[in-house]
Formats: sequence, C-alpha cells, structure tokens
Amino acid sequence: MTKRIFRSICLVAFIVFLASILLIMGALYEYFSNVEQAQLKMQTTLAAQGVTNEGIAYFHNLKVTNYRISWIDTDGNVLYDSKSDIEEMENHLERKEVQQAIAKGYGESRRYSDTLMERSFYCAQKLIDGTILRLSISQSSILTLLLGMARPICIVFVIALTLSIVLAIQISKKIVNPLNNINLDNPLSNQGYDELSPFLRRIDSQQNQLRRQKAELIQKEDELNTIIGCMNEGMILLNNKGKIISINPAAKKLLDVGEDYTGADMLSLCRNLDLHEILCNALQGEQGERMIQLHEENYQINANPITSKNIVKGAALFFFNVTEKEKAEQLRREFTANVSHELKTPLHSISGYAELLKNDMVKEPDRVPFAENIYGEAQRMIRLVEDIISLSRLDEGAKDMQYENIDLYELAKKALQSLAPAADAAHISYGLSGVHANIYGIDRLLYSLIYNLCDNAIKYNHQNGNMTVKIQDKDNMILLYVIDTGIGIAPEHQERIFERFYRVDKSHSKAVGGTGLGLSIVKHAAKIHNAKIELKSTIKKGTTITVRFPKQTNETI
Ligand code: ADP
Repeated sequence: MTKRIFRSICLVAFIVFLASILLIMGALYEYFSNVEQAQLKMQTTLAAQGVTNEGIAYFHNLKVTNYRISWIDTDGNVLYDSKSDIEEMENHLERKEVQQAIAKGYGESRRYSDTLMERSFYCAQKLIDGTILRLSISQSSILTLLLGMARPICIVFVIALTLSIVLAIQISKKIVNPLNNINLDNPLSNQGYDELSPFLRRIDSQQNQLRRQKAELIQKEDELNTIIGCMNEGMILLNNKGKIISINPAAKKLLDVGEDYTGADMLSLCRNLDLHEILCNALQGEQGERMIQLHEENYQINANPITSKNIVKGAALFFFNVTEKEKAEQLRREFTANVSHELKTPLHSISGYAELLKNDMVKEPDRVPFAENIYGEAQRMIRLVEDIISLSRLDEGAKDMQYENIDLYELAKKALQSLAPAADAAHISYGLSGVHANIYGIDRLLYSLIYNLCDNAIKYNHQNGNMTVKIQDKDNMILLYVIDTGIGIAPEHQERIFERFYRVDKSHSKAVGGTGLGLSIVKHAAKIHNAKIELKSTIKKGTTITVRFPKQTNETI
C-alpha cells in the first residue's frame, strides 16, 4: 500500500509539474507576444510618420536590425524591403494585415513560418498617399522556446522530482502508519481515520460474535468431553487412515495408552486380529461387532463407520464390558437348570407314589406313609416355588415394595414365634436379646432375612442345641446376630453357601426341608438394605452370622 501511495503521489507531482511548465510557458509566451506586438505597432506608427514626411529618403539612412520594414504601394507591389530584393518579391496585396490596413487604416497579423520554429508579427499602416508601411518582427515559437530552455527545465525537473520523492515517501508513511498501527484486539480504541470507524465497528461486532461462538463451542466441547470422560464404555474416534483422533479415559485404561495418543496408529496400540478386521471393515463403510478379551474381561466391540456424503471419513469404536452380563446369563442358565432339576426330583417322587396308589399296589398300612411322602414332596415344591418367586422379585430390585420404620427386635420376635414349633421339634432352645432398634426398610424382606437365618440355625444344629438372636445398636450401625451351636460350616464352603442352590450336604439339606435358596434370599435382602453380612463358623461348634445395617432414614435410602 505504501508503494502504491508513493507511486500515485510521484505520478501526480510529475503531471502537475509538466502541466505547470506548459501553462506558465504558454501564458508567458502569450504575454511577451502581446508586448512585442504593441512595440511593433508603436514602431510602425513612428516609421509611418517618417515615411510620410521624408518619402523614400527615410529608408536611405535607416539601420534596421530587429525589424523588417516593407513599403507597399496601393496595388500590393513592394516599393521597399529592408531584407529582400524587391524585384523578387511577390505581390503583398492579399496579406491579411495589408488588407486590414487598406480597409481600416491599420492591420496586424501573426503567422508561423513553414517549419513552425518561428513566428512573425506584422503591423501595417496606411499612409496618407494610400501606400502601406508594414513592419514585421520574428520571434521564436513556443517549441523553440521550450527547446531553448531545456536545460533549466531539466534542472528544475530533477529538483522537483527529488522533492516529490522525499515528500511522497514521508506522506505515504504518514498515511499508512495509522493503518499499520490499528489495534485489532480492541478496534474501538483506534483514533486514526474517521473513515475507518464503520469498518472498525464491524470488526468489533464480529470479534464479539466470534468470542461468543468460541465460548459456546468451548462449553459444548467441555460438556462432550465430560460426558465422554465419564462414560464407562471405551470410545475411540479414528480418521480414515486408522489414526486416533480422540480416545476417552475408559478406552485409554483398557488399551494401557499413555497421554500422548493423538495421531497414533490404532493397530499399533492393540494388535488384536478381530479388532483389526472390524476396524478395516468399518473404514470401508461396513459396521461390525466382535467379542474380545482384555484384562481377563470380555468386551463387545462395535465398530461404526463415520460417513459424510457417502464418503467414509473415519470410524468410531465402542468397547462394552459384557463380563457381568455374560456372568448373569450364565447364572440364569444355571438357575433354570437347577430349578428344573430341583422340581423334577419331587415331581418324580410324587408321580411314583401316586402311580403305585393308582394301581392299588400299596398295602393298606403303607398308604398313610405314602400319602405323607406325597404331602412332604409337595410341600417342598411349594417352598421351592415360593423361594424362587421371592428371589425373582429381589432380582428386580424390590422396586414396588414399601419402606417403613421397622423395629428389628419385634420382627425377630415374630420370626422366632413362627419358628418355635420347628425349634421345639428339633429340641433346640432359643432366645432373643438386645435392644429395640428401628430400621427404615422393607418389612417382608427383613422378616424373611431373619426367618431364613434362624431357620438354618435350627436346621443345621445338634440335638438339644441352642440358637440366640441378638440386636445391638452400636457405632451408628444396627447389628443382628444369629448364633447357633450347630454343625458349623467348613472354611471352603463359607464363601459359596450364599450362591443359589449351593448346599454343603445336599441330602441333609433335603432331609431338613432346605431348598438351597434361603441364604441367597438373605444376601439379596441385605443388599437392598445396604447391609453387610459376616460369617464366623467353626465346624461342629457352631455358626454366627452377623448382619450390619447402617442407620438409615428415609432421606438416605
Ligand atoms: P438350605 O435351604 O439348603 O438351607 P441355604 O441357602 O439356606 O439353603 O443354605 C445353604 C447351605 O449352607 C445349607 O445347605 C447348609 O449346608 C449351609 N448352612 C446354612 N446355614 C448354616 C448354619 N447355620 N450352620 C451350618 N450350615 C449352614
């Protein structure tokens, strides 16, 4: 821009200079011409008087250097000429100044020579006898004048050019400086040119808009990063060459990737062949799904192509941990198999007894024991089905069940009352001690928790054994102890007895009417109440099961 302004100023200066020279020269030339013509007129008048008085004798002693003087008769013939031989001269009657002098008494004219290098002024005056006296003078033309002044003009031109260049440099700098120093970070603070104000205001408003949009973008990016960062599922975004664009913390942990991951090749981070295959497919626009093992856990990987206008721009990989889901499915399968098996056995027994009775193959005294067996098996099935129903309800998370304040002591008392006949039948003494402590929980679940623990303490006890239930309010916890002096549980079984259908001694459990689901129900019920179960058991000496309930209010549930 500085160069352009500089060039423009120089050009303008040059044009102005040329125009000034020409105008001044023209004006001066015209002025001096007029002066010359006036002088010539005066000389003509004086000469006319001389010729009128002296006649031809006037010319004899005349010494003329600058002028040319001619005397012309009334027919246009030259009678005298100071420069040329009159014999060779042509008739002058048609000359403009001569015509004017004949008509008006005085005439004048200006004419260029053939080469245009000279201009001549003519003044003609009619004398009393009708003859014409003409004076002429030659003057250099303006072109000659200019050529003659070429040197001073050139000197002036060089001076003017130097001055123009110096001034042009300074002026262009002065013009451009405020533009160069514009503070675009704060456009409205600039004082430079008023003409720039609309432009600066526009920049300011656009900058504000950009700032707002940037803040919005950052906020959205933060939100997205927070969401992606909090995802338990691993997520990786790749470009169309399989290089990582973004990877969330869960995926980094899975693949043991450090911080510097952007731009890394996905396949160099994880060399799993299945992953390689679905990733290649995804980069060719095909969605894929595979199961792979990472850190001894099972992951389902979904690879989705990212397309724009039907062109694959990259791929998104999602890692879902399906270990728990698979375990749950496995447990469900096992549970179904166990349930079928558990139901099949009593059904076979019932069917067998019923068939013998139907075919009248049972002697009269055996009929009652047969009926008792059928009744016993049917009762077992009922208990089993009831336990299965309870468990499936618990599996759903006890959503519809009612929470209320429950006195654990009173609830234990109720459970012991209903178990009293069984305890008496097994000759087990029992007792309840401790304090009345309230729990905000589900009555039915807490009842079956205490009932199942006490039922086991009776079922797996020695003859004349003892069972004690104790409630304590300690360290912000409510503790429920069920202590028996029974057969105890060997350490290798202690972990597993809470599994569904797990029994230490299957035949003993069946003999005492167990279903193998009691402690599973206890475990679920405790979990729903955020309680922890502790088991201490010594073989042949007895078992103590402690359930630790946190003190909960309806707000903390
Ligand atoms: P079950 O209906 O067979 O009693 P549970 O789930 O209640 O099923 O118990 C699982 C197994 O744990 C029982 O079969 C038994 O072998 C053992 N068990 C539970 N409670 C006791 C206890 N108090 N003393 C000894 N063994 C016990």
